[in-house]
Amino acid sequence: MNKIVAGVDIGGTNTVIGLVTREGNCIAETSFPTQESSDFETFTDKIASQALNLIEQQKGNLNLLGVGIGAPNGSYITGQIIDAANLRWKGTLNLCSSIEQSLKVPTLLTNDANAAALGEMLFGDAKGMKNFVFVTLGTGLGSGIVVDGKLMVGHTGFAGELGHTNVKPWGRECTCGKRGCLETYVSASGLRRTVFKLLSLSNEPSALRNFTYDAISAKIIADLAQKGDRIAINAFENTGATLGMKLADIVAVFNPEAIFLFGGLSKAGNLIFEPTKRHMDKNLLPVFRNTVNVIPSGLENKNAAVLGAAALIWKTLPK
Ligand SMILES: [Zn+2]
Repeated sequence: MNKIVAGVDIGGTNTVIGLVTREGNCIAETSFPTQESSDFETFTDKIASQALNLIEQQKGNLNLLGVGIGAPNGSYITGQIIDAANLRWKGTLNLCSSIEQSLKVPTLLTNDANAAALGEMLFGDAKGMKNFVFVTLGTGLGSGIVVDGKLMVGHTGFAGELGHTNVKPWGRECTCGKRGCLETYVSASGLRRTVFKLLSLSNEPSALRNFTYDAISAKIIADLAQKGDRIAINAFENTGATLGMKLADIVAVFNPEAIFLFGGLSKAGNLIFEPTKRHMDKNLLPVFRNTVNVIPSGLENKNAAVLGAAALIWKTLPK
């Protein structure tokens, strides 16, 4: 029997389940809309039954060793999802105990960015690294921090919420209810907000003036920046400046050897990497200069969330 781990990525829209080998290959995958179950019990039953279906489809020669789950506001310490803003079920949700009861295998949970950081460590370009930071730049900004070879989980299991640290007192309103959070400036939606601010401040001609706020995307801004649109270029410059300064703080606190950037915004390549590195370097303490690389994730074209969720279990098992 071949050993396998189920990696589950619970997103606001879809829940994806994959069967992942020790080498980090996802051999089968399925997904369903997260919010279609009216109660949480029906949802967890569905995860369990779909995982079993996937295993049965492999003709019975797989031995399920455990289930790893990445979810918004998922606590590694308690195995619960607590007050997740983008899920329909509110309050404290006992996720791990429920899956363990159904499938009778160890089940571990963490938030999606922490899971992706573990995926980078086990299956990506952070193999062998003991100190690194993983940053996801999607609709929001998530992060996972690995210190001395271990994912930092913290006292209640929610460590690494870099996206909701402050970069501007009384700044932009965030979905979390606070103001001035990093992700309101550095994320796909933050970039869009920056574009509209820049448009309002200048008379610079720009193709971006033809778009409504809802129609614009990070991809459109990146494409126009490549064509020389000054507003688009400045939007990336401002975004990189804010991210670079924050990363310099992170380097001062954690002294990592690498910072991985992952997700939609990181696909803009040098448009985001170059200003980020320049502003980080400018803000680094001299003792940290030339000690840290800002690089793309090695999982960029793979399902990092599912691989990372499975890595939660694989890293606990002897080789
Ligand atoms: Zn926030």
